[in-house]
Amino acid sequence: MAAGLSLAFVVAHPDDDAYGIAGSVALHAADPGFRFVLVHATNGEAGDLREGFPATRETLGSIRRQEDDAAWRAVGRVPNRHEWLGYSDGGLDKVPFDELVGAVEAILVQEQPTVVGTFGPDGIFGHPDHIAIGAATDAAFMRHASTTGTSFRRLLHGAIPQSVFERWNRQRAQLDLPVFDPTAMYQMRGVPDADIGLTVDCRSVAHRIVAGLQEHRSQHHVIFDDATDTERWKRIVSREWAVIAWPPRPTSTRLLTDVFEDLP
Ligand SMILES: [Zn+2]
Repeated sequence: MAAGLSLAFVVAHPDDDAYGIAGSVALHAADPGFRFVLVHATNGEAGDLREGFPATRETLGSIRRQEDDAAWRAVGRVPNRHEWLGYSDGGLDKVPFDELVGAVEAILVQEQPTVVGTFGPDGIFGHPDHIAIGAATDAAFMRHASTTGTSFRRLLHGAIPQSVFERWNRQRAQLDLPVFDPTAMYQMRGVPDADIGLTVDCRSVAHRIVAGLQEHRSQHHVIFDDATDTERWKRIVSREWAVIAWPPRPTSTRLLTDVFEDLP
């Protein structure tokens, strides 16, 4: 139960929010007073155009916004507030850093979220947009985290543990799928297992996470190797991990199992 607690998630593109946090939102969807705030820095208009899909370079951004709305309806919990900052997809690292920080900070200060989630410096895929919005969110959060009278209690960086990354790559090799090269841009990478501070069991809501993922129809060819293999996808999304970026966490501390557990 997370009565009156709130979660803000700040990402770069529509579909960044479809994994890594959707399970935690679904798990808390019905908590009394739970508030979910979602911020997208771009509309994802530079995303890959899927062959045969009725989208053009001009329409892809608005289509992806609609897909994102549909995805959260499919998860079963729409955001209480959803902000689209409208920066150019693929250009977040060229936005003046203070401007990006200020745009995120304005929303966080209004919302006073309990927990904020974003990307860490790995960007999960090394994507410069992910790294830029993560760094800006960190800076916005840290301007207020240590100030009395604010609600900011925890900052999370969504991440894949290195051991899981390696297991997934072994499974991909067995399935004759291309393996991820963590040194290449736009390819998945892990973080050291010891850096992970949160691991959430999402098995009970995995079907809802997959239903959300499937609404990102224009990006099926990017997201899925086989969009019909829902059982494999339920396994992949059945756990969410994060690095606890703030407050500092002694390395010997046990892993948290919920975004709101043991709030400082
Ligand atoms: Zn992205």
